[in-house]
Amino acid sequence: MSSFNLEFFRRRGYTRRVCRKCGTPFWAVGERDTCGEAPCDPYTFLDRPLVKREYDLDSMREEFLSFFERRGHTRIRRYPVVARWRNDVFLVNASIYDFQPHVTSGKVPPPANPLTISQPCIRLVDTDKVGRTGRHLTSFEMMAHHAFNYPDHHVYWMEETVAYAHEFLTETLGVPEEYITYKENPWVGGGNAGSALEVIVGGLEVATLVFMDLVEDESGDVEIKGVRYRKMDVSVVDTGYGLERFVWLSRRTPTIYEAIYPEVLNALYDMTGVERDDLHAKVLSLVSRLSPFVPQAHLMERIAEEMGKEGHEVTPEEVRRIVEPIQRIYIIADHARSILLMLTDGVVPSNVKEGYLARMLIRRALRTIDEMGCKLDLYDVVKLHAERLSGLLNMDMMPVVEDMLRVEEERYRETMKRGEEIVRRTVRKKGRIDLEDLILLYESHGLPPEFVKSVAAGMGVEVEIPENFHALISRKHERAEVERKKERKMDLPPTRLLYYEDAYMREFDAKVIWSEGNEVALDATAFYPEGGGQPCDLGELRWDGGIARVTDVQKYGDVVVHTVDQPIPVGVEIRGRIDWERRYRHMRMHTATHVLLSAARDVLGRHVWQAGAQKGATESRLDIAHYRPLSRDDVVAIERAAFEKITSCLPVSIEYLPREEAERRYGFVLYQGGVPEGRIIRVVKVENADVEGCGGTHVRNTGEIGFLKIIRTERIQDGVVRIIFAAGPAALEEVQRRDDLLLTAAKKLGTEMSDVPTAVERLQAAWKEVRKEVERLRRREAEVIGRTVTRERVGDVEIRYALLDVDLKTMREVSLKLSGDENVLSILVNTGGHVMVGSTCRVSAAEVAKVAAEAMGGRGGGREDFAQGKGADPSRAEEALKLAVERAREMLNV
Ligand SMILES: [Zn+2]
Ligand SMILES: [Zn+2]
Repeated sequence: MSSFNLEFFRRRGYTRRVCRKCGTPFWAVGERDTCGEAPCDPYTFLDRPLVKREYDLDSMREEFLSFFERRGHTRIRRYPVVARWRNDVFLVNASIYDFQPHVTSGKVPPPANPLTISQPCIRLVDTDKVGRTGRHLTSFEMMAHHAFNYPDHHVYWMEETVAYAHEFLTETLGVPEEYITYKENPWVGGGNAGSALEVIVGGLEVATLVFMDLVEDESGDVEIKGVRYRKMDVSVVDTGYGLERFVWLSRRTPTIYEAIYPEVLNALYDMTGVERDDLHAKVLSLVSRLSPFVPQAHLMERIAEEMGKEGHEVTPEEVRRIVEPIQRIYIIADHARSILLMLTDGVVPSNVKEGYLARMLIRRALRTIDEMGCKLDLYDVVKLHAERLSGLLNMDMMPVVEDMLRVEEERYRETMKRGEEIVRRTVRKKGRIDLEDLILLYESHGLPPEFVKSVAAGMGVEVEIPENFHALISRKHERAEVERKKERKMDLPPTRLLYYEDAYMREFDAKVIWSEGNEVALDATAFYPEGGGQPCDLGELRWDGGIARVTDVQKYGDVVVHTVDQPIPVGVEIRGRIDWERRYRHMRMHTATHVLLSAARDVLGRHVWQAGAQKGATESRLDIAHYRPLSRDDVVAIERAAFEKITSCLPVSIEYLPREEAERRYGFVLYQGGVPEGRIIRVVKVENADVEGCGGTHVRNTGEIGFLKIIRTERIQDGVVRIIFAAGPAALEEVQRRDDLLLTAAKKLGTEMSDVPTAVERLQAAWKEVRKEVERLRRREAEVIGRTVTRERVGDVEIRYALLDVDLKTMREVSLKLSGDENVLSILVNTGGHVMVGSTCRVSAAEVAKVAAEAMGGRGGGREDFAQGKGADPSRAEEALKLAVERAREMLNV
C-alpha cells in the first residue's frame, strides 16, 4: 500500500503504476508504462516547449518564491554556502541544511512556518561530471518550500505539498499534465528518513518532495533499506526544486549551461576564440540526450553514429575535437560560479575543511584553463558571474576575492614547477602510477591528476584517472570529525555558577556537596573551570580547621569539580577565594581576544574567522583564517584598530538569547568560537565591535584591557595565521622586555637606543670589509704555501705534497692552486688530521685520500678528481702523508 494514495491524485486522474524498465512505482495520467525519467525515457523536453515562456535565473526564482508567498509562505533570505551553524558538515548541500540539526529535531522553532527560500548549494560529488554530461553542476540554487509540523501545530503534509508542486508546474509554468510523473523513492539521509516523490518533467528530474518523519532507532517499527526507524515528533516537508533545471526546461538549450549563464559563456567564447555554431549545438545536444544512457567511454562513438543518421558524416575523433574545448569552457564557467559563492561567503582556500574544497575547485579551474592553452584570467570569469549574481552576494568581498585568487594562482604555479620532478621521481621509483599515488600526489603535493598523467605520458607511462576522482577526494573532506567531548557522568544537582552572575566575585561561601579523594563539588562556585581556551582559576577553599589549595577546576555537564591538595568532607561550609590577579589577567586577555578578532576583521576583511584561541596569563594566541602571512603593515594597522576599540571604552554586555533570536539579530558571525550546544546561547557583545556566543569571563568595558600588543605572528598552516599577543599588564611587560633587549644592544654597541640600526649597519659594513681582507690574505698565504710544497716527477705526472699547519679554508685554497695544472696529483695533510687530494691525472683522488685518512685511523673518499678525509689521530699526520705519496708513486708506476 503506497503512502501516496492522495485525494489529489484521485481528483486529477493520476494512477499508480510500476515502471516497465526500472521497476519503480510512479504516478501518472494517460497511457504510460515507464517512469518518465532518463534513462527509462528520453529528454522529450528538448524537443517541444513544455513551459509557456522562457525564464532566466532571476525571473524563475522570483516566479517560484512569489508563488509560495501568495500561498501563505514567508520568504526567507538565503543562508551562506559555508555551514557556520553546524559542526558536522562544511558546505550547504541542500536547503534543509539551513534548518539542521536544531529546527528539524524540534529543539528550535523555524524562522517562519511555512517558509520558502532559494538556497545556493555546493555539491562536489558531481565535479568530474561537470561539462561532460551537459547537465551536472557543482553549485546550484535549491528552491524550496518547507513546513514543520508539530503534535500541537499541524501546517500541511502530502496532499498540499503535491498540489502546490502540481499547480506551480501546470498553472504557473503551463507544463501539460501528461508530461509530469511522480516517482516514489524513499529518501534517507543523516539519520532521518521519509517517503518521497521525485517530480519528472519531459525526462528531467526537476524537484524532490520529501516527507521527513522518521528518525533512526534500532527498536523502531519502520524499515527502509535495511535500517530501522521510528516516527519523529516533528514531521518536515522538505522539498527541493532545481532552479537551474527549471530554467533549462523553459529554454531547451543543448546543455543546461547555455540556459543559465549564456552571457558568461559568450564572453568566454570571445575570450578564448572557441567556436560555437549550429553543428556544435547539434553535437552538444546529443551529449545531453545520450549521456544518461551511454557510458562516457562510448559517448563520442554514439554521437558520431547519431550524426551519421542525420546525414552529417563525422568520425568520433572529430566529435571529440568539437566537444572538448566547449566542455572545458563549461567546466571553467561552472567552477568559477562555485568559487565566487564560496569566497564571497568567506571561505579561505587552504588545506583543511571547506578551504580544502575551495582550493580543489580553484586548482581544477586553473588546470582546465592551462589545458585550453590560452590566456584567461580566472578572476575575470568569476567577475562575469558576480555582475549577474550581485543581488545574492556579499559584493564588498570582491577585492579580497581577487587577492585570494592571485595568491592561489601563484601557489598553484609554484606547485606545478616543483611537481614535475616529484612525478618523475615517483615514476622512476615505481615504474607506474596507480590511484593511491594519484591521491597522494594530489593531497600532499597539490598535483592535479591530469597534470600527473601528462608528465608520466612524457616518460612513456600510461596513467588511468578514475572518472570520479574529484568526487573521491571531496567525499573524504566533506564531513567534519565531530569531537568527542570528555564525558563523565556526575549524578549531582547543577552547580550554581557564580562567575557568570558576577565575573568580579573574588570570594564566596558555599557548601561541599560531594567529595571523593582530592576532588570536591560545591553547591555554588566562583572558580572558572577550564573551557573555551581559557585556563581554570586557582585559589583556595578555607573552612573551620583547614585550608585546601585548588589546583584544577573542570566542568562535567552542569557540575563543576575542583581538585584540591587535601580532602574536604561532605557537608563542610567553605569560604572560597580565587587567585584574583591570575583571573583578572585572563579576563582582560579573553576580552582582548574579542577585540583583536574584530580589529583583524576590520583591517583584513570579513573572511577572517577565528580558527582557534588560547588565553594565558602572560601571552595568548588567536588563530585566524587568512590567505597570506601578515605583513608588518597589517600588524601595525591591527594594533592601531585594537587600540581605538580599547581607548573608546566600549561596554561589554552579556545576554542569554534563544538560538533562533541570537542568529536573527547577529547572524552566524556568533559562531566564531565554535557552535555551542543547547537552545539558549550566552551572547557576549562588545559594543560596535564584536558579538560571539562565548562562555568565558570578560571585563565590563574594553577600557579595562588597557593595552594590547601583538608579540609576533606565524603562518601555522596554509590559510591559517596565528597572532600571539598580550593584553593588560602582560602587554606592558612585553614592551618593557623589548626595551630591555634594545637597551642591552645599544649598550654593547656603545650608542643610543635610537641609533642601534645605524650602529648595526656600520658594524655590518666594517665586518664585510674585514672578511674581504681575510679572503685576500688567505689567497696570498695559499700562494706562498703553494710555492713551498714538495714537487716530485713520476713519469709525466707531478706529485705535489705537503704537511700544512693551516685551517681548512686555506688548505682548500692551496689545493685549488696546486691542481690548476694538467697531470698533477696534489696531496695535502694538515696538523689537524685533515686530508685533501686533487687529481688532474690518471690516479684516483678518492683512493689516495682513503690511504691517508686510514693511516690516521679515519675515513676518506670522494670523486676521482677531488677527495677529502679526516683522521682520528692527527699525531700520525706526517706518516699518513708519507704513505699516501708512496701509494701514489706505486699507482703511477704500474
Ligand atoms: Zn523507470
Ligand atoms: Zn569570550
